[in-house]
Amino acid sequence: MAGCIFCMIANGEIPSKIVYENDLVVAFDDLHPQAPVHTLVVPKAHYQDIADGVPAETMAAIFAAACEVARIKGINESGFRIISNKGADAGQTVPHFHVHVLGGRKMDEGLV
Ligand code: 5GP
Ligand code: ZN
Repeated sequence: MAGCIFCMIANGEIPSKIVYENDLVVAFDDLHPQAPVHTLVVPKAHYQDIADGVPAETMAAIFAAACEVARIKGINESGFRIISNKGADAGQTVPHFHVHVLGGRKMDEGLV
């Protein structure tokens, strides 16, 4: 979608630290990391958020890629957290569906 930051990252118009990529998804490091590992996984096609009719195949690819990111980053054994913000109350700031993969330190016990 024109003007969408994550579409532009996915098609290479904006540079990013790509961690993993396949036909459906791309994973890149967050610009403002909130943990030693903080990588975003996004579909290459534009969906506003997790509830925007994302096809099952793409949804599966997102979560498989998130696990691949954890292996690549070396946090599969120690553990990691996946978060997807949807809408205003969740604090979504980029309206292109993405999941955060967070790890490399012990996460807070509370989810929020
Ligand atoms: P949200 O708040 O929508 O769940 O997460 C958006 C995330 O995108 C934030 O963690 C923010 O740091 C990250 N972000 C915003 N703009 C860019 C960018 O241009 N490049 C990268 N790599 N991350 C970005
Ligand atoms: Zn987009």
